[in-house]
Amino acid sequence: MKQRKTYVKSIDAVFGKRDAAAEIRDLIEINWVEWRGERLALGPALGDVVGLSIERESISWALLGPRGPIASATVDVPLFPLDGEPASAETLRQIVAAALRDAGDAVAPGPLAGVGVAWPGPIDLDGNPYPVDWTGFDFGPAPGVDLRELILAAIDEAGLKVQDAGGDRGPAATLVNEADADLLYEARLGVGSGIGDLLGVKIGGGISLSLIHGGQLVRGHAGRAGGVEHIKVRYEDFALPDKWANVRELDELDVCSCNGSNCIARFATGKRIIDQLRDYDDVGATYNERGRKIEAEFQKDVVSAVFGRAGRLVGQALLGPVLAFDPERIVVSAFPRSSNLLQGIRTSLTDGTRVHLIPEDIVFAGRFRERTAAGAGWLVVEQTVIPRMEGAVTGTAKLRRFELPHFLRSQVPADEHVVSGFAALQSTNGDRDLIVD
Ligand SMILES: [Zn+2]
Repeated sequence: MKQRKTYVKSIDAVFGKRDAAAEIRDLIEINWVEWRGERLALGPALGDVVGLSIERESISWALLGPRGPIASATVDVPLFPLDGEPASAETLRQIVAAALRDAGDAVAPGPLAGVGVAWPGPIDLDGNPYPVDWTGFDFGPAPGVDLRELILAAIDEAGLKVQDAGGDRGPAATLVNEADADLLYEARLGVGSGIGDLLGVKIGGGISLSLIHGGQLVRGHAGRAGGVEHIKVRYEDFALPDKWANVRELDELDVCSCNGSNCIARFATGKRIIDQLRDYDDVGATYNERGRKIEAEFQKDVVSAVFGRAGRLVGQALLGPVLAFDPERIVVSAFPRSSNLLQGIRTSLTDGTRVHLIPEDIVFAGRFRERTAAGAGWLVVEQTVIPRMEGAVTGTAKLRRFELPHFLRSQVPADEHVVSGFAALQSTNGDRDLIVD
């Protein structure tokens, strides 16, 4: 049942007040927000938003409220393990469905506004992952398996419904590259909030960059911006002293997936940092388990030496992108992580270079574990939920940022489009209605 007129009247009254305290009360009245325990959630007129992050050895979910995540969890499960067989399409669907069922316990009754899914590989401009054989990655759904279809089936299997799935309000599941999701979270809700030009570095199973320029994610000509794995570095300059006998030297590491021997991905992904530390070669443990053990023992000299070296190599690889892009801040998210890694990047990028950053401009991402899932969900808030709110207001053709409710105003850039080139955006139009049951 459409109740557009009623809403429009109340919404216009709300925006006329410009008073944050009164605003929440009024927004609760029109069902745009609601209190769930002590957390402010999206109300039944908008629907909940769930973010998922499919990672190699874990899966995370986050439930988004108007001020950020209000519930979240992570489960360790080998999906595309770094040293094992990738999960079959059926197993992947079951694991995604289990995570969504878990999230489903936290969501309100009624259909979701959308699901955002972070994926550890490049996403094309139609919102689909590039095929495995094309990217050279050693993981991903088997050839012929459509990841979006698989996720929609999992949503169904979990007993969740999404408003207008497949309709003209955008896809029910929005896929986004994990590094982009990570940086969007930091830009809106984390250590990059309020900064228009950010560069993100994500170090994990691989290494990739993300860019936010003028508040918008930059995805490049075909959605592949930030694929920096094959930037060459002068690794010969980074030999460690002989006393570190239990460290695998850089030229002992397997060559890059492209067969290159100088690519940054050969030396400084989270996996390759772990590989260098012979003391943590426990074959019975997953990379996640070994990484956590290494993080816990970050003060050991050999561990800090390897992290520091990886950081200096990453800094060398980033010099070109940083000089070309001129970010105001660099946000590093890494697993495993250590202050020596950050220190290495800072030294390498700012010591004797022409980079206009001071070391303190290069920071670690927050420690919130479900950051990537929350970033994927937040993309749906910006692409689907906010346009619906804008569309519900009469008078002006388009709500500008400064007319948004107070709780969203500070988190959303002034520009209309959050991500250029996303299919979901192209399908939006000016005359959306709010539909409530
Ligand atoms: Zn390479």
